[in-house]
Amino acid sequence: MKNGNHDVVVVGAGMAGHCAALEAARMGASVVLLEKMPAYGGSTAMCGGAFAFAGTRVQKEQGIADTPELLEQDLLACGHHVNDPQVVHAYAEHQHDAYRWLESLGLDFDNVTLNGGQSMPRLHSLDPKHMLRVLHQALLDAGGEFRANAGARRLLTSGEDSERRVIGVELTNGEQVMAQGGVIISTGGFSRSRDLVARFAPHLADAKPMGGEGNTGDGLRMAWALGADLVDMGFTKGTFGAPAGPPLAGKEKTAPHLVHTMYKGGIVVNTKGDRFVNESLSYKLIGEECLKQPGRIGVQVFDQRIMDQSAPFPTVDDYSSALEAGLIQRADSLDELAGLLGLPAQALKATVERYNAAAEGRGGDEMGRDCLTAGYGTVPTLSVAPFYGIACTTGLNSTYCGLRTDAGARVLDVFGQAIAGLYATGEVMGGLHGASYLSGSSLAKGCIFGRLAAQDACRRTGQTPAAAA
Ligand SMILES: Cc1cc2nc3c(=O)[nH]c(=O)nc-3n(C[C@H](O)[C@H](O)[C@H](O)COP(=O)(O)OP(=O)(O)OC[C@H]3O[C@@H](n4cnc5c(N)ncnc54)[C@H](O)[C@@H]3O)c2cc1C
Repeated sequence: MKNGNHDVVVVGAGMAGHCAALEAARMGASVVLLEKMPAYGGSTAMCGGAFAFAGTRVQKEQGIADTPELLEQDLLACGHHVNDPQVVHAYAEHQHDAYRWLESLGLDFDNVTLNGGQSMPRLHSLDPKHMLRVLHQALLDAGGEFRANAGARRLLTSGEDSERRVIGVELTNGEQVMAQGGVIISTGGFSRSRDLVARFAPHLADAKPMGGEGNTGDGLRMAWALGADLVDMGFTKGTFGAPAGPPLAGKEKTAPHLVHTMYKGGIVVNTKGDRFVNESLSYKLIGEECLKQPGRIGVQVFDQRIMDQSAPFPTVDDYSSALEAGLIQRADSLDELAGLLGLPAQALKATVERYNAAAEGRGGDEMGRDCLTAGYGTVPTLSVAPFYGIACTTGLNSTYCGLRTDAGARVLDVFGQAIAGLYATGEVMGGLHGASYLSGSSLAKGCIFGRLAAQDACRRTGQTPAAAA
């Protein structure tokens, strides 16, 4: 059963798929965006909405002297220099264009924040659901087609050996959807596949599964079946800051999925009341350490000065909502807080005393902490009551590894040859992050490489950027 001929077929309708499909539609291509679930969104719909961009208008307005070169260095340093330097360079080179493209769609970035691994405040946040609605409407306005409940299960090819090219996809109902210019895989990660987690990230088998319900690694398997190379697989890390307990009944929709007080100066203690990590490190590295603690619990402890810096969703600093949802406990003293959190009071008080002494310059910090994150900011004392605590664990939000591509998002096979007509973008694409993940780089990556993939696929059918609306 064949369904017409499209120029471009995009598989998976989150951030990456929407950006790819919209770019193709605006270049004049006939494009269909396929989604296996009843609604579009994937992990993008539930994420924090933060983008790592550098040299932006918002940063300039706030006097932040950031550059693409600095962002590139941070990506490489965070990835322990095992990332693909060409892919990282492409991110740095095209990120500002992606930022302006999103702004041109009417998406307003009006603030920047600091987060793990960033040497500058450069997380630009949007409400992800609003962003998806805007992208989706723009796609329909540009003539793109969207199909829900349309899961792809196989890639279709024609030709043999060096002549082989991807010409479409087969859906789970047997229907074939053909693509003249190429198929762009944007199926997200595999956080919801027990099988792939066991195979590629066994150390995360106990992490709390998060991410979109449909993110079972389908795109990875489809391309893998054609000999696609995989990269960064061993490096998948969980994310610290997933609340360990459920929110109060009725607060499920407003309760944050992630809470980070560490980069404002909060500490993380285990159930013995001891710190176990330098909290200025990336939340991925904190997540790794948290999984080694009793019960896989890390309790963030902080004071009123940090609570005062609560910033509404979509940031990970929405402490007020977490408090209202019953995830954060509040107490007038550390003794009382320890009781509420089930921590040994003496140990917690001694830990906070040592932390405060180091923050005041009376001796070194026991975990080597000397900044808020990545050399930026001064560590505050935790001394202004009331005090707060939230029991967290490590969540498997996203997998950040996958198909090896070149800098133009073309999928490469195990011999380093591009598989003609096949592209990957977003979380399913490996190579950018290397050994660890720089916050805000996943959404931006989906946008940057989705657009590059679409441009190349359109070129194969004769459309050029000049034809763009
Ligand atoms: C709680 C949380 C907070 C996060 N915060 C941030 C943040 O602030 N900044 C950031 O950069 N990243 C963040 N991330 C990570 C980020 O959200 C994801 O990596 C990103 O949204 C992935 O986008 P994507 O388009 O590649 O995949 P997704 O948005 O997951 O979309 C993939 C889509 O493909 C569909 N699909 C899968 N298989 C098939 C198939 N066979 N056929 C058709 N469709 C298919 C899925 O159903 C899904 O809708 C966060 C993640 C979580 C869970």
